[in-house]
Amino acid sequence: MSVAPIKWKCHISGDSLSLKSRVTGLVLAGGRGTRMGRVDKGLQPFRGSTLVAHVLARLAPQVASVAVNANRNLPQYQAVAGESPVLPDFIDGFAGPLAGLQIGLQFCPTELLLTAPCDSPFFPLDLAERLHAAMEAEGADLAMAVTMERDPEQPDAAPYRQPHPVFSLMKASVLPQLDAYLDTGARRMEGFFKSLRVAEVLFDDSAAFGNINTLEDLQRHERETAAPVASARADADGAAATATSHANAGTPAAGSAPGNSASPAVGRALDSDPAALAVDEAQRLICERVMPVDATETLPLLNALDRVLATDIISPINVPAYDNSAMDGYALRGADLPADGAAPLNFKNIGIAYAGHPFAQAPQQNQCIRIMTGAAIPPGCDTVLPQELATAIDGDNVTIAANAIRAGANLRRAGEDLPQGGVAIAAGKLLRPADLGLIASLGIGEVTVKRKLKVAFFSTGDELRSLGEKLENGCVYDSNRYTLFGMLQRLGCDVIDMGVVRDDPQALEAALRAAARNADAIITSGGVSEGAADYTRDIMALLGDVAFWKLAMRPGRPLAFGKVQTEQDSAWLFGLPGNPVAVMVSFYMFARPALLRMMGANSKLQTMQARATESIRKRPGRTEYQRGIVSTGADGAPQVRLTGAQGSGILSSMTEANCIVVLHHAQANVAAGQMVEVLLFDGLT
Ligand code: AMP
Ligand code: MG
Repeated sequence: MSVAPIKWKCHISGDSLSLKSRVTGLVLAGGRGTRMGRVDKGLQPFRGSTLVAHVLARLAPQVASVAVNANRNLPQYQAVAGESPVLPDFIDGFAGPLAGLQIGLQFCPTELLLTAPCDSPFFPLDLAERLHAAMEAEGADLAMAVTMERDPEQPDAAPYRQPHPVFSLMKASVLPQLDAYLDTGARRMEGFFKSLRVAEVLFDDSAAFGNINTLEDLQRHERETAAPVASARADADGAAATATSHANAGTPAAGSAPGNSASPAVGRALDSDPAALAVDEAQRLICERVMPVDATETLPLLNALDRVLATDIISPINVPAYDNSAMDGYALRGADLPADGAAPLNFKNIGIAYAGHPFAQAPQQNQCIRIMTGAAIPPGCDTVLPQELATAIDGDNVTIAANAIRAGANLRRAGEDLPQGGVAIAAGKLLRPADLGLIASLGIGEVTVKRKLKVAFFSTGDELRSLGEKLENGCVYDSNRYTLFGMLQRLGCDVIDMGVVRDDPQALEAALRAAARNADAIITSGGVSEGAADYTRDIMALLGDVAFWKLAMRPGRPLAFGKVQTEQDSAWLFGLPGNPVAVMVSFYMFARPALLRMMGANSKLQTMQARATESIRKRPGRTEYQRGIVSTGADGAPQVRLTGAQGSGILSSMTEANCIVVLHHAQANVAAGQMVEVLLFDGLT
């Protein structure tokens, strides 16, 4: 029997500390198949192989090893499972999923066990990761998937929580409790769960947890796979796009299109997005995981522009090195100035101090020295009278009135800019022209900077054509390659441009492997939205520890983030959406801060407030990024207007804009005249 999907498993090498290495996957296939006319569900043909093979293929990338619980047709299950064990129940008589769980826990060689039923081949590829996160956060013994559903008969009724106990991650140590529960004769999963600390994890994609209960369900799924997806779908970024069709039977992608086959009830649940991740939460999750590179290099100052300083610059001298004059004028002793109410006094000029040519003689009482800006203050002097404040100047005689200045004025003290031994510039600074100047002012000619980050990027999609190629019907030129190149280049990365990769599993796998070999980070565009009719999501998941998020934002709802891991190499992956504006916004909001962190840079996006010249529609509950044009209003204050159409594919409005208007998660409609936050493109490196 062909089990193509499982072959991907052998490519994955586990990082010993990763979650994956701590989890065993268990496929629950031990039921009677009552609703399927008692056929053995797991062995039913499905999209070129069997249901159980599809479930194994989705589990494999998330776990260290797998096992199958089955009670019939064991040789056939063994043929699908390969070297993984097939475990019949310990208790007799088709005692239900808990009996399968019991034998799974008895076998489980790791501290955690993840279960999935054999009739649900669409579950999320980040199931283990998300269940584990909740388990940790809540100190639970077990984490279970939950979705929000609507009753198709009552579309206006409130959605309800649907638990999925067969999709659970649990500690292997719960076995004694399960044994005790089964000893009482009870068999219900929910009943057993009552004896545990359970964390419930809300998944927004209810279709992913759909199961195939009847032969009719199975046939319907088979028909839908075979039929081209001809209708336009609402693109995940919110813009209309036409789904391409693929004959994907027998490939790992076969189980990845639940979005297209969702029932009407499920479709509504997806639209309402109860569990879309907030932008700041995604930013936090990403930045918590990536770490700065350690390697550094020492460069001549002139080569260090736009690099990240690796060690503090300590000032070896006082800056300024000596007390000097802030003005052109007369240096004198403050104690000699005429007292309040006294008559003007004459001072005798005894010499001149120029910058670079100090005057070494100290003045006597009521003597002064002509001094130029930057010249060293002569000995004994502590005050400079600006020349325009002298009441009269007659040859060497300078007349100064009472209260013309106070004693101590117009001096720059040694070390007042930077004291010797102090931190002139802290590590983590992205070196700008002013920084180079400051470092030079300390007499330092070489700096230690972080090594450059290597970032590989490619565009995915069968419809993409590179410049110079003929644009056939239904194709588009690859513009993301150019925006991504520009954004990465400006960030100062070593950019590895991998061009376009077709929606082909082998090509995608080869590209990701090559990228992981050569780069610290990989940026892709396209293919990460749910229901994207291509393989990108599956290959990404199978080659590593990648989470697929649906974000509460617009544009740019889908995002993949995680670590691509091959036998020897690993790299952080940012799977950006395909639409050209969504790519840019997602890059700026998620990839850019993470890359800066990896570069070792302490850099925060600077925003400003501007007055909206027009009202802006905004739905609370998601962050919206709109393209805008900031200008100076009649009152001199900054104002902003939108560029017009905000579709996530409309790149022309991005070139027209000079800023992005950031409308925050909780924010509602903006009235004309209200202040909004804007992010100037000029501020984006
Ligand atoms: P996807 O996320 O792959 O479904 O792509 C979403 C939309 O973005 C589709 O209309 C694609 O044709 C378009 N798209 C994807 N990648 C690119 C690219 N590199 N350049 C221009 N458009 C793209
Ligand atoms: Mg695509």
